[in-house]
Amino acid sequence: MATTWITGAERLGDGSIGGAMDKPNAPARVVWHTTESGDGDASFKSVADYLIKIDAEPHILYDPSTDRIGQFGSLSESARALKNDGDTRTNRVGKACIQIEVLARAGKPFTDYWKPGPNFRKLMAAIRSWGVPDVFPMGDLAEKYGDTDAKRTRDVWLTKGGHYGHCNIPGNDHWDPGAIDKAALFAAAPVSTGTGGSGSTSPSSSTYTVKAGDTLSSIGEKTGVAWKTIASLNGLKSPYTIKAGQVLKLKASGTTTTPTKVIPAFPGSSYFRPGAKNSYVTQLGKQLVKKGYGEFYKEGPGPQWTAVDRAAVKAFQKAQGWTGSDADGYPGPQTWKKLFS
Ligand SMILES: [Zn+2]
Repeated sequence: MATTWITGAERLGDGSIGGAMDKPNAPARVVWHTTESGDGDASFKSVADYLIKIDAEPHILYDPSTDRIGQFGSLSESARALKNDGDTRTNRVGKACIQIEVLARAGKPFTDYWKPGPNFRKLMAAIRSWGVPDVFPMGDLAEKYGDTDAKRTRDVWLTKGGHYGHCNIPGNDHWDPGAIDKAALFAAAPVSTGTGGSGSTSPSSSTYTVKAGDTLSSIGEKTGVAWKTIASLNGLKSPYTIKAGQVLKLKASGTTTTPTKVIPAFPGSSYFRPGAKNSYVTQLGKQLVKKGYGEFYKEGPGPQWTAVDRAAVKAFQKAQGWTGSDADGYPGPQTWKKLFS
């Protein structure tokens, strides 16, 4: 499910800023802006009030110095941070067009000094829940006003999902968010399992190496493991002191290693023909026994391909619901894969 309201984001204004998208069949996208203001709580409030007053609300207001996040409107509807491109209502292009105003200045890239935390990761999870890929389809952001390396190609904007700067939007002339480090945005919110989709997080590994500034609850947010579980697994007691570089267990030992099944490569049909004699026939027969087809083998299995092997394979194929040439008793890649998985 795509996230419309980010859990824990402060509601700003009356929640109603835009409306239905004009081009909902185009992929979802994100537009980054800077407010050209200072940061901190006083700026957060004054900028939010100002954006409401001038009817130029984005969806999101984000403070890169404190990780504070506010939301003006549903991500499923349009925002108001862009100018139209002729007849195209730019704010309404895409399944979603998520506009983010960062309390910063384009001339001082916020990724040089920011402190992204749990709220930034929630924001990225919400973005990914709309299927927005971690890419900048237009390429370069502007390093200064009028920077022609930052493209505003109409075709790209209308057809490609991903992240854009205000500097990349056709019909607009602003150069924000400045020369931020694009990769840093994604690196600050690593995907734990899969991209896009549900936006939920789950642990991707069994340990976590503590980074400077981490707390048990921030680690819990990052890994999807309850902080109390992490504390108890690692024998931590109040005041729960952890230090950078420390490796924490995220799962009880014993459950940390799930054996990964390796499916052997299918050697080829020619190894399973009348007259064939090879080790693959033995391997196949043994696996059939393991899967419950041992009754066919009065003796063996062995390297000689026999009518018994064929009968056992046929029974296995029929048990998969296969018919006709798919259940002729000769194993192909599908049978092999199914048998060994
Ligand atoms: Zn802007």
